[in-house]
Amino acid sequence: MSNITKFIPLRRKQLVCILFLTLSNFCIAQKDKTIATNYFPIRDSLYMVTIGFTNIGILVGEKELILVDASKKSFMDSARDSLLLRFGNKPVKYILNTHSHGDHTGGNPKFMKEGTICIAHINAKKEMHQIYYVDENGKQVDSIIGKPFREYEEHELPQITFNDKMELSVFNEDVELMHVADAHTRGDVIIFFKRSNVIALGDNYFGDAYTFGNNIEGMIKVYKFVLTIIDDNTIILPGHGKLSNKQELQQYLNMITHVKSKIDLLKSQGKKLEDIKADKSITEMYDAKYGKLYINGEQFRELLYNGGNKK
Ligand SMILES: [Zn+2]
Repeated sequence: MSNITKFIPLRRKQLVCILFLTLSNFCIAQKDKTIATNYFPIRDSLYMVTIGFTNIGILVGEKELILVDASKKSFMDSARDSLLLRFGNKPVKYILNTHSHGDHTGGNPKFMKEGTICIAHINAKKEMHQIYYVDENGKQVDSIIGKPFREYEEHELPQITFNDKMELSVFNEDVELMHVADAHTRGDVIIFFKRSNVIALGDNYFGDAYTFGNNIEGMIKVYKFVLTIIDDNTIILPGHGKLSNKQELQQYLNMITHVKSKIDLLKSQGKKLEDIKADKSITEMYDAKYGKLYINGEQFRELLYNGGNKK
């Protein structure tokens, strides 16, 4: 797998941190003066591009591109020009959003101004009314906490929405968009590029890191469902983290099922949240593998105790 790294200067100094205030509240700010943009060929005409810490998918057609997600607004402000140049300066026909969060949809309006059609689940469109917030310094941030800053303008919301399922035949590819109910958010879509055998799972799955989301039961249902529709050759494009596969998804499902069963048992024995958070032994066999990127073992135990962020 080849990997080209470019560093893109930012206009202003920012602070990058992934700080969990609680499991339902996190902020992402930025310290680096540069944003790393990494290009990973996936298969056929499909690529993964990691901008900062968010992944987007790109399907390259003869004259146009299709994106899976559009990254964080500030990331796309920095990365857009070099990204398009890398793929021949072709216009973006569609953005297919996996969910509403600002680090995946903040770049939408930048492309929509140029004629891109954005497709999302109906609930994701509703959630996008609440995506932008003001931080404690009065600055607009892409986050899922804080005070509502403004709603997207009508022309910045996805133009096409659907309920259960949608199919596109584009650039010699059959693309299936499937809503999976109440999981990472209430408007999640998984996107299956059937001819290339590549599937995008949004933030339900980070490959080699603990994930978080609105409803853990819903997320477990997603993993089980996906495992029934993919095969050993399927490549999984996660919302964050590295490319993955069926075997690793199965391992993640095994892990989360194991940890959840331990926590459910302790809960039934009267253990409280503080006991679970303090008991490192519950996740210690998995923390080295999954607990380094976004949330650590204690935060993961809290998430599972609560059944999700439950927003
Ligand atoms: Zn998300």
